[in-house]
Amino acid sequence: MLQGKVAVITGGTRGIGYATVKKFLENGAKVAMLGSREETVQKALASLKEENPEYPVVGYWPNLTKHEEVKEVFEKVKEEFGSLDVLVNNAGISARDPLYDYDPAAFEKIMDLNVNAVFNCSQVAACIMKEQGGGVILNTSSMVSIYGQPAGCGYPTSKFAVNGMTKSLARELGKDNIRVNAVAPGVIRTDMVAALPESVIQPLINTIPLRRVGEPEDIANAFVFLASDMASYITGVVLSVDGATMS
Ligand code: NAD
Repeated sequence: MLQGKVAVITGGTRGIGYATVKKFLENGAKVAMLGSREETVQKALASLKEENPEYPVVGYWPNLTKHEEVKEVFEKVKEEFGSLDVLVNNAGISARDPLYDYDPAAFEKIMDLNVNAVFNCSQVAACIMKEQGGGVILNTSSMVSIYGQPAGCGYPTSKFAVNGMTKSLARELGKDNIRVNAVAPGVIRTDMVAALPESVIQPLINTIPLRRVGEPEDIANAFVFLASDMASYITGVVLSVDGATMS
């Protein structure tokens, strides 16, 4: 579905990002996997290459909150693979601090990665995409961008902002043939969720109509579809992939 496309995927070293890198490669894309540290990027690259030494995948670890570092890496990717067709803004952090104890520096840290970095990557990618005649920007939102959450207001605030950026950039960049969409995952079995005891997981599952937590591949599949030409008339959408979780 993505034959010949070049993708940059942030936060690609584990969880949803790693599953997305793999699905993109399996679907014929060339991928630049971005992570926060050289060590984790090299480890993820090695495990992909072990699976298939022919995978066209490279890794970088820029500070996504620094515009210049993002620009340098995206231009390298364009040079290496010939274009930049898809950006998946996936790197993100969360926290559940109650408001009364919320350290303002922690609030800023969440906004920095979950919002400012998404802006940086989207702006740099859009400039390249406009010049080459089009592209796709995909953001990782969350179901908390619809419901909020009872503690840790920074995380849902950042994801509401991601939805705002998604819808606004879709309207602004449509004329340049750049589509912008987001996926809003529900509870996904990443390391953190997998480590929860059965006594916590089961009551959670009981609140999900599909009676299971999502797998990273469920989100990766949505990204593959939205990145592909099959979604060529879809833009400005925040697609819930959450088994119809109600809150
Ligand atoms: P994860 O913690 O397993 O992986 C996060 C990724 O982001 C890692 O690859 C990490 O290297 C990268 N990252 C973290 N800090 C970074 C930084 N400062 N700079 C660059 N990269 C950094 O997370 P995940 O659960 O796979 O989440 C991925 C995305 O999905 C996030 O945006 C998250 O908000 C969203 N999400 C996850 C769930 C879930 O249940 N797991 C639900 C809704 C939304």
